[in-house]
Amino acid sequence: MKNCRVSSVLCGAGALLIGALLAAQDATREQYASPWRTAWTYEQAAHWSDLDPEYAMCNSGKEQSPIDIRSAQQIDLSLLRFESKTAPLRYVINNRYTIRVNYHPGNGNFLVVGDKRYQLRQFHFHHPSEEYIEGKSYPMEVHLMYQATDGGVAGVTVFLRPGSGNSTVQKIWQHMPEKEGQNEVTGVEISPGGLLPAEQVSGYYEYMGSVTAPPCTEGVTWFVLKQPVEMSSQQIDAFAKLYPNDARPIQPLNGRVVKQSR
Ligand SMILES: [Zn+2]
Repeated sequence: MKNCRVSSVLCGAGALLIGALLAAQDATREQYASPWRTAWTYEQAAHWSDLDPEYAMCNSGKEQSPIDIRSAQQIDLSLLRFESKTAPLRYVINNRYTIRVNYHPGNGNFLVVGDKRYQLRQFHFHHPSEEYIEGKSYPMEVHLMYQATDGGVAGVTVFLRPGSGNSTVQKIWQHMPEKEGQNEVTGVEISPGGLLPAEQVSGYYEYMGSVTAPPCTEGVTWFVLKQPVEMSSQQIDAFAKLYPNDARPIQPLNGRVVKQSR
């Protein structure tokens, strides 16, 4: 910098400005960090609470997920309305337990139930499905996790069954890291709508449960969609190669009522 010879003050200001610009650029970049203080495995699922005091709810909670949905009570339930937006896919995360895509506030993807709006925070996959319907599981499922402004958390389960290839899944799979960490992606756009059966869904089950991985936090309203979405057997196999089993076993219902749309 020529100015540096003229004035060391200007030189310093210039360096600060450049530093700030670089920092701003870096701020849009995200570093991968494991969300878990203590590692766990699916084989240890019956004893997650023993691994870390933060995981206490996993084995002492009374409203845990997933469940086997049986004899659901038929009532009139609100239509589920999904507002989905196509946007650049920036990172595909392998957090050791699943493949996950995160969404930041202001992303424009919503789940609307009655007058309640939940914003999408992330989606991830399980193989095989965690939820069962009348004792039957599916090869895979996607969990789309939403949060309302009042802090309320909603999870949407979409079962995935073998059929035609899913182009949204394909874009994600092409960039999924084989080991724990994240891949930065450029020039790829996806919409979470590509993982949903429709923009408006009337056929679903609803129950109160938990996050299905440690710390197993309760208070999650689960919406389990009846209509599955297709993906190819090759796509299922590609995920299964990384995750032969990333499904938590079925949890006791403990008297909870499962609602079902008429
Ligand atoms: Zn999940």
